[in-house]
Amino acid sequence: MDILKPVAKFVLDPLLAFHENSSHPEYLELFEKTQYMTKEKIADRQFFLLKNLLFHAYKNCPFYTNRFEQAGFYPKNFHSLTDIKQIPPLTKQEIQQHLENLKAQNYSNNTLSLNQTGGSTGSPLKFYVDLPRLHSRKASTFRHDRWTGWDIGMKTAVLWGHQRDFLPQQNWKNKIRDDYYERKLFLDTSSISNEKMQDFVKKLLIFKPEIYLAYANSMYLYARYIKENNIEQFNRPQAIITSAEVLTPEQRKTIEEVFECKVFNRYGCRETSVIASECSEHNGMHISAETLYLEFQQNGNDVAVNETGKIIITDLLNYGMPLIRYQIEDAGSPVDGDCACGRTLPRMDISGGRVTDFLVTSDRKVISGASMTIYFIAVIDGIAQAQIIQNSVDDLTLRIVKSSYFSEQTEKEIQQKVSEYFGSRMKYSIEYADEILPTASGKYRFSISHIDPMEYLS
Ligand SMILES: [Zn+2]
Repeated sequence: MDILKPVAKFVLDPLLAFHENSSHPEYLELFEKTQYMTKEKIADRQFFLLKNLLFHAYKNCPFYTNRFEQAGFYPKNFHSLTDIKQIPPLTKQEIQQHLENLKAQNYSNNTLSLNQTGGSTGSPLKFYVDLPRLHSRKASTFRHDRWTGWDIGMKTAVLWGHQRDFLPQQNWKNKIRDDYYERKLFLDTSSISNEKMQDFVKKLLIFKPEIYLAYANSMYLYARYIKENNIEQFNRPQAIITSAEVLTPEQRKTIEEVFECKVFNRYGCRETSVIASECSEHNGMHISAETLYLEFQQNGNDVAVNETGKIIITDLLNYGMPLIRYQIEDAGSPVDGDCACGRTLPRMDISGGRVTDFLVTSDRKVISGASMTIYFIAVIDGIAQAQIIQNSVDDLTLRIVKSSYFSEQTEKEIQQKVSEYFGSRMKYSIEYADEILPTASGKYRFSISHIDPMEYLS
């Protein structure tokens, strides 16, 4: 295997040996052990994985060949993890502009999965993931799920705004295995109505899931629906995982009160899958450090423990399209000290992230702002970043940062999508901006609503 040659010592590390031919159960078994490795061992592994990745990217990805040479950085001179800082961070704009050159030339398209995201900042992004990485991503998610009390074979309800995240595997063998591993009920929260909430209550009572996995805001709205309508008969899971959006302390409190169980918050993104999750101690989130290398920076320097910095992620195992020092435009802080759960994986807190209010259509339908980042913004060419502001039930302001692909066609597509998702009677105006900045606390507000969606659940 070509990628092993540069660092012969690493042939013994199972993570790379796995990379060619392992499926997620084997990764899962490995991750169950590695979460208790010593901190030194974790750092050693990260170093060797990173070194292999750097050799591979320099040799096979034209973007990185240029990037490294311009920075005067050569993988053979990579002697410690901090040497990674010689490489400039990779921006979303660069991924938008150089997708094909970021792809490894020794990977053919049929060994890669093309995915896209509306991003945490409202910036649409396409990217490739190699097929073995899909297995390690899945295993990593299962490992983090287990921290909540979930285990293989248990039922999960997924209150999610985008079904594509959970498409079944096409291969029948994988499908049978997935059905065994993941007994899931998918509840689409891309749009919400009273009728739909009633339907959720019924379906959940019948399916009896033990765990919920949910968009934070969707879960909060469902909890409010149950509370404000004094519903007594409803399914109570043993744990709730929230993700994809910022979970506020008030939202957590309401959800935990209504369902009488703990909320486990999670930070993830489509580009790398799960990044960090809370364990039963609820004391920061453990990072999936076997597969990801995270930095927290302010003005190019690492921040101190508990200080907030910009999150920079390197995916240690996606050889098909390496993401090296990816500036995800979220903010977080490193957490120090040992965790009482015994896991040694480093911890972090998320202080920024995506805030997405629910929006209301001209037909008085309530739709998830987080879903709109995928259904609406990510599919229109010409938008570098976007923000939707709902001023009143019939009026939107769209703040748009143009990308180099912007044309008259972009405005036509915006018009079509507004009509498709918000109804033909929705009035809107477009405000063009150079950049959409996060709030002072580092949160990106993709959708901002000045109205309460509960008023329109009828
Ligand atoms: Zn822990």
